[in-house]
Parts: sequence; C-alpha cells; structure tokens
Amino acid sequence: MHTRFPFGPIPKRLHENLLNLTTNTKGPGVHEAERQEITNTFSGEVIGSVLLGAEEDVTRAFDLARAAQRRWAETPFSQRQEIFRDFHDRVYKNRELMMDIVQMETGKNRLSALDEVLDVLSNARYYANKMPDLMSEKKRPGALPGFTRTVQQQVPKGVVGQITPWNYPLALGVSDAIAALLAGNGVVAKPDSSTPFSMLIAVLFLYESGLPRDLFQVVTGSGRIVGSAIADHCDYLMFTGSTATGKILGRQVGERLVGYSAELGGKNPLIVTNDANLDVVERELPSACFSNSGQLCVSIERIYVEEGVYDEVVRRFQRAVSKMKIGAGDAWDIDMGSLINETQFNTVNKFVDEARAAGAKVLCGGKPRPDLGPYFYEPTVLVDVPEGTPVLTEEVFGPVVFIQKVSSTEEAIQKANDTSYGLNASVFAESGTGRKVASRLLAGGVGINDGYAATWASVAVPLGGMKQSGMARRHGPEGLLKYTETRNVAEQRLLSMRGPKNAPRKLYANLMANALQMGKKLRFLP
Ligand code: ADP
Repeated sequence: MHTRFPFGPIPKRLHENLLNLTTNTKGPGVHEAERQEITNTFSGEVIGSVLLGAEEDVTRAFDLARAAQRRWAETPFSQRQEIFRDFHDRVYKNRELMMDIVQMETGKNRLSALDEVLDVLSNARYYANKMPDLMSEKKRPGALPGFTRTVQQQVPKGVVGQITPWNYPLALGVSDAIAALLAGNGVVAKPDSSTPFSMLIAVLFLYESGLPRDLFQVVTGSGRIVGSAIADHCDYLMFTGSTATGKILGRQVGERLVGYSAELGGKNPLIVTNDANLDVVERELPSACFSNSGQLCVSIERIYVEEGVYDEVVRRFQRAVSKMKIGAGDAWDIDMGSLINETQFNTVNKFVDEARAAGAKVLCGGKPRPDLGPYFYEPTVLVDVPEGTPVLTEEVFGPVVFIQKVSSTEEAIQKANDTSYGLNASVFAESGTGRKVASRLLAGGVGINDGYAATWASVAVPLGGMKQSGMARRHGPEGLLKYTETRNVAEQRLLSMRGPKNAPRKLYANLMANALQMGKKLRFLP
C-alpha cells in the first residue's frame, strides 16, 4: 500500500515515478520544451508538474504500444484476467490515496471522488469476469447446414486512442481503457492538461499488477497538439468531452474511417409526476443535480414538475439544498466541493447573472463563496425563468438547475425531449407511471426514482448518448466489443456453395430457392 500525503504537494519520489510513466519522459528525442504546473484546486498550491507533449511524443507512444500490443494479443485470457483482478485489489487498498489526488486536482468532495474509485473497481471486476465469454470464438449457423462450418471471432483493433476530460479524471482515465486492454489492445491516452495525476496513479497500479510495460501509454499535453495527434494515429478513438470537440474529432477519424466512441454534452431533464413519492424526491434531487458541483455530463439541469405537486416539490427541494454543506477537504459530510477552475467559475456566474437579469427568481444559492476557496459557487436553484434565457437550453456544466411547472405528464415528456441532446433523463414517479414515461424519453440512460447513479453504476448495461450527446456506448458487452473487429470464418466442406460439380445450374437454382423457402417455413434456418 502506498502512503497518503493528504492535500500537499505530491512527494518527490512518487512524483518522479508518475512522471516516468508518461511517454513524454521516455527515450531519446524527449520533448522537454514546456512544463505545466498542476495545482490543488482548493488552495491554488502547486502539487506537481508535467511536460507538455509534442506530436513526436505521440508517434513514439504509438510505436511502443504497437510493439507491446502484438505480444499482448497472444497473452492467454486467464493471464489478462489475473492482472486486472490484482489491479482491482490494488485500487481498493489504495483508494484513500487515489481519492486525495482526485480531490486535489479537481476540487470535488470526497463522495464524488469515491464514485470514481467505485467506477474503476466495477469496470475492472465486470470486464475481467466477462472478457473470455465476449472474446471467445462463437460457432454460428452456416449457410448450408452440415456443409458450412461458420465461426465468429473477435480481433483486437490494435492501439486505441483515448482522450479524456478533467471532471472524472480517474474513472474516465482508466475505466474505458480496462475494456480496451482486456480485449487485447494497447492504449495511448491523453488526460486533460489539468488532471494528469489521477490517471497516472491508476496506470502505476496497472503496471504494479503486471500489465506489460509500454502497453498503456500516457502522453500529457494540450488537446490541440497531443489530442489531435492521437486521433491521427489510433485504430479506434474513445473520447469523453464537449460536443464541440467531439465533432472535430469525429471529422478527423472519419477521414481515416477509424471507429469512434464519444460521450459528449447533455442538458439532462428530470420529471416529477403527481404520484411521485416526495420523500424520495427530497432525498435524491440534490445529488442528482449537484454531485461533483454539477460538472458531470449526466447531471440534471432541468426539472419539470406536474402542477399537483409543484409547490410542495419546490418547498422540499429548497429545504434540502439549503441544508447542503459546501467546503474543501476530505471530510465525508461535505456535500459539494469547488468548481475546477476560473473558466468554469466564470461560466456558472454568467448563466446565473443572465437568468437573474432576465427576471428569473433565485430560489437558493446564486452566488460565489470566496470564503471557501477561489472557485466555490453555491448550489443554485432557479424558478420562473423566462423563455429564451440561455440556462433553459444550454449546458451549464455547473451547480445550476431550474424548476418549471407543467400541466401534465405529456407536457413534461414533450419538454424533456425538446433538446438537441439525449444523454441522461430521469423520472420520479410511482413505478408503473415511471416505466411508461421512461419508455418515451429520448436519452441513452433513464433513471426511475434516481438521477443518474443507478444507470451509470449498472456497468453490465451499455450507456451513452443519443442525438448530439454522443455515439456508441461504454459499459456492457458493447463497451468491450467496440474495441474489436469481428471476423467471420466460414469453412466449406463436402458440397460447394455452387452445388455439386456437374449439376445443371437451373436444377441447382430451384433446389436452393426451394430449400430456403422450406427452411423459412420449418424454421431450420437461422
Ligand atoms: P471540457 O469542456 O470538458 O474541457 P473539451 O472537449 O474541451 O471538454 O476537452 C476534453 C478533452 O479533449 C481534453 O483532454 C482536451 O484537452 C481535449 N481536446 C480539446 N480540444 C481538442 C482537439 N481539438 N483535439 C483533440 N483533443 C482535444
């Protein structure tokens, strides 16, 4: 187990070890040009620094990863499983240290940091268990039963590129990579420039668990240079971030016909119907909206409440939010931490100020908290927001939510779906109503009597975005199979697909057509 160093600079030895894991500091021709300081978001104190990579660093990373991947693809499934099961236990044992690093880099509260650790544990366990079943050769019905032996094989793509954001730097930094690696791929990853150590600490544990050196390359640096070079070299791209960047990368990999998975922005709605249990609403809504200070792609930013319970929901939500404890540090009773940086802080201020100027009522919050740290902002609930105000339709990615009254469930569904996004949605209702509403919400994940946590943590089920919120899915079988190519191997025996050698063509044609017809009727064909 590694020793903790709560909320101070990363100790010299560990810092050096982590930096040595980046491709930027490996081999000849190392790009030493620039360094970026990494700060503790709560205090502004410098905790370490990383190199800002260049395109050569990415090229070298792919060369090293490709060589390692060729050997890795031959590694037996059981050996791969063992590494990731050991990794699981290492993360479990070192969770406090990992949460310290995550909290420092992001400014989030302890519980949101724990969510990241739990996510890594769940993905390591699930994909280590599931991989052999997903990757093993499957016998499939052949074209001519008895004469065609057909199997389906899954082949790793090669080296997967991964570009991740700062909001969940540990979970997004390794959970998707776990599936890619178990499937037999190498990975070249770029963490967000401000949060590299949350990913690097996990990579350190992967190597300690026996992952072959060079298989997982981390290149630190800017999105424009390092991220873009990754998109130019990878055999598949996994991206989590904004819709704007997702489109740029989609164009880039599209040009090379390389597969792409992206989880992008959202403006996630939550519906409360007249038959909802309001105790559950009061308990769940604060975390649905304000986990990680709302800097969460699946976080709720719009609440539509049926008129029968509107006043009571507003009263109870206000009560729950005003009791929330905001602050810095690792105490478990803190409900919400800081925003990550000045840019986010300014964005949140702007959305709230615009809404206020347009005539919206601030039910709670609505102001910065410089007494707690430079980027703290109160959890904010708006009501009576006039039509046309940006906060109604644009993603804030901060602790700001509005509540609107609707006259029916139908109106709530229509408003919830009236967006270019489709990432997450939620409905609080009696179970029957909840399921009916859920089946009509156009989102990749829908929580019933839960904001987002249940869909996110159910790692056996694919999750992702519809519309402008993304493509492909993470989690579930799809979350691993997307990193593979499918190979169809059909072996023809005894009878040619063109029929017996000297059979008249017309006779064979009729025979085949009749056989297919009979196969359909008697259902002996797939
Ligand atoms: P966010 O708003 O969460 O910062 P971004 O999409 O800007 O979302 O960033 C997510 C990740 O994408 C970061 O690692 C960032 O460095 C990277 N990135 C940003 N712009 C580009 C780009 N043009 N090409 C490749 N990666 C990029």
